[in-house]
Amino acid sequence: MNAPLLEVENLSKHFVLDGGLFGRRKGVVKAVDGVSFTVARGETLALVGESGCGKSTTGRLILRLIEPSGGGLRFDGADMLALDKTALRALRRRMQIIFQDPFASLNPRMSVSDILAEPLLLHRLATPAEIPGKVRELLGLVGLGPQHAERFPHEFSGGQRQRIGVARALATHPDLVVCDEPVSALDVSIQAQVVNLLQDLQASLGLSYIFIAHDLAVVKHIATRVAVMYLGRIVELADKHTLYAQPRHPYTQALLAAAPLPNPGLRLERPILQGDVPSPLKPPSGCAFHPRCVHAKAVCKDETPALRPMPDGAVVACHFAGTLPAPALATAASPNPVLERRFAALATGE
Ligand code: SF4
Repeated sequence: MNAPLLEVENLSKHFVLDGGLFGRRKGVVKAVDGVSFTVARGETLALVGESGCGKSTTGRLILRLIEPSGGGLRFDGADMLALDKTALRALRRRMQIIFQDPFASLNPRMSVSDILAEPLLLHRLATPAEIPGKVRELLGLVGLGPQHAERFPHEFSGGQRQRIGVARALATHPDLVVCDEPVSALDVSIQAQVVNLLQDLQASLGLSYIFIAHDLAVVKHIATRVAVMYLGRIVELADKHTLYAQPRHPYTQALLAAAPLPNPGLRLERPILQGDVPSPLKPPSGCAFHPRCVHAKAVCKDETPALRPMPDGAVVACHFAGTLPAPALATAASPNPVLERRFAALATGE
């Protein structure tokens, strides 16, 4: 078996909060706390969870946009945390990011041509004379034409702007792209187009994606495997088909149950996620999910469950994983019918 492209081991990011008159320590926020996973070449690993679960911070840690507090990162066999500046810069060419808000991430004063030329020149991937040809090539890759090169971001629709964001990420010929909620800001119909574009590019260029999202319907469409995060930790990681057919962690079950169904009456039989995510400054003891968990027992307050392997390869951090009753509607639980219909329509060219 090929070595993974990316290995994340026990990765952590703890933010120390200082404040008050004498700058006393207010506490520590464990935004990411001991996260481990691998990403194979050509696969899409989705990171999902509610806002504040640490999924975007994990993406930024992997790209070294912020420095980890602990843990290990290996990319294509190289220890990323041991690299000097020159080596890290060379590696960064191979790891890119697509942001959630394409408008905010594109400089409004730069033309598309300049936006796409910037990474090419920065990484010395083209001479100034080669830039127009490279820009045309990149625009073609994302379904835009040469006529778009001299326009500015405000002249494009949201979907087109995200295509420009994708083209910019592809300019350096990356192996890994962190897609940080890349379609959340787009209309539903446009979401499907951008997701399909990402899939086509993955197939033709052999890209690996880390796809950060909270929309489980989009994730179901694009992911190979899914890691569910809660308060900075992975609570379940499984192959997409396993996770959607047999969600084992009560949090995963509740997330899937939150997706809309055609018949609202069916919701009554499903585990509903109650309350808000607790403050990461004061996470609950034991299993951090216990105040919201319908299956919580005394042990859950006292002991933090480790990730345990299941017979089908999934790993789950729950004391009772594998013994809890499957949710009544697990098989019907995930699809967002609106998105699913849209994806189906696109797939058949309707
Ligand atoms: Fe619920 Fe307990 Fe499992 Fe945590 S360990 S998810 S509280 S059953």
